[in-house]
Formats: sequence, C-alpha cells, structure tokens
Amino acid sequence: MLHSVSTPSQEDKPKRSFAEFVAAVYEDERVGHEARELLLAVGYAVDLAKREDGVSPLKVAHRKLGVEQGRKARYDRLVADDAPRYKPPREAADWHPSGAPSCEGPRLRPYRPRAYKPRYQPNPPDVPLLADEARARRLPPPVLHVTPGYTPPRDWRTEDGVCGAQSHHRVLEKDPLTGWITAHWFCKRHKDHADRVAEQVREQNEQAPEPIPNTGGLLPCYFKADWEKVYRHFLPHWEPPRYGICADDWPSVDEMTARPTRHTRLRVVIGSLEGE
Ligand SMILES: [Zn+2]
Repeated sequence: MLHSVSTPSQEDKPKRSFAEFVAAVYEDERVGHEARELLLAVGYAVDLAKREDGVSPLKVAHRKLGVEQGRKARYDRLVADDAPRYKPPREAADWHPSGAPSCEGPRLRPYRPRAYKPRYQPNPPDVPLLADEARARRLPPPVLHVTPGYTPPRDWRTEDGVCGAQSHHRVLEKDPLTGWITAHWFCKRHKDHADRVAEQVREQNEQAPEPIPNTGGLLPCYFKADWEKVYRHFLPHWEPPRYGICADDWPSVDEMTARPTRHTRLRVVIGSLEGE
C-alpha cells in the first residue's frame, strides 16, 4: 500500500496550515459529507506523519475511519467513491416502466375540458317497479360540486402539450461538447417518435466525446500520491478519465453549456461565406 502522501501545498503552493486545509475542505462545494470525512481523515493522518516518523498516512486514515456494516473498512468504500468518473443522471437508468419518467412525446389528442353533464344512475332494466316504488327509489338529484363553466386545473403531465403516459422506450442523447447524457422517454404509442429521436441523435452520440467526469477526483486536489494506483486498487474495473484524475483539472461544464447557441450559428454562417 501507498506510503508517500503529501499535501500539494508543500511544493507547489505556499504552505497551508492544517486549519487552513480544514477550512478549504469545508468551503469546497464539490465535497459531500462522505468525501469530507475521507479528506479530513487523510489530512489528519498526513499531519500526524509529519510529526511521527514511520507512520503511513493512508494506514492511519484507514484505521481512523473504522469499519461499517460489521467488518468492511469504511476507508475502502470512501476511496472507491472518490474514483473520478461520470455518473449519468437517474433518468438515464434502465427503469422498469412503473418507475420511468413519463412520456415526453407530443400529446396525441389535445385536451379539452368537457362541459359538466349530470349523470343519473338508471334503474336496472330487468327489474319491474311499481310507479310509486320507482319514484321512491329514484336517486336524489346529483349534487353539483362545481359551477357550470368550471375548467379543471391543468394536468402537470399535459403541460406544454406533452403526452405524459407511462414510458417504455428510452433514448439517450449525448451532449456534443460535454458527453453528458440526457434521457428521453416515450410510451408505447410513441414508439415511432422514439425511433425518430434515436435516429436524430445517433450521429451526435457516436461523435460525442468521453463524458467529463462529474464525481470524485477530490483526493488528488488535496494530496499528492499515486492516486490512480489507489483508485484501481479499490475499484478494479475503473479506468482513469482522459480529462485527468484531479477534479481541479476538469473543464467547467457550466461554462461549456452556458455558451449561447447563437454564437455557434453565427460561426457556421461565417464559415460558409469563407468557403465560397
Ligand atoms: Zn406518449
């Protein structure tokens, strides 16, 4: 196991005190509560190793984080969770129809609120009734709970002319800049629509770049070590992203996707003029 772990501040940046390190971890918006627990444990262990010779920081962190679920080292799971990777959104999962997001195909029949029509419960036709009895058994007039002209509130599923039915077909779209996935869901009646959308995004998906990681990669932001080796140890099938294993090095997806599409169109126009 790894023995040399140090804070990057020791060489690259002005020296950071332990208190400053803790403050930085707490202020880092990327750090969730479990990652924070891991970073603080490793930070504590590195600090300890500076004062005591022959102490392996990761061994100390391993011991300090204890065990979970009876006997599994919590450290092992937290490190595996910090392996940098792209985690697709929940909607992109292969849902059972009952749990999938509703169909986003266009509404098949436009929704029109129907005027109120009072309903009477007819007497069963095969039961002969005396006139008086028939009168007595006639149901009281229906109670009007709404005034005529009332329009029911809009159904959230049908907002913006969306179908909203239970989905069966999933189409994944990859962003051409970030490689991030958007899931589109369609019901059985919108199978043709789903096929059309799949065809529309096919080329874009094939050319999409490897997705920019959106989780993990925090240990390398705070400590110098052969983290690739560590991640591989705890997550055997993991492959390092081509954007690097340190979350600090990843391109900002917010910046990439915030670019107005107008600019892109403009560039296409200029390009075609130049080509002439
Ligand atoms: Zn539908």
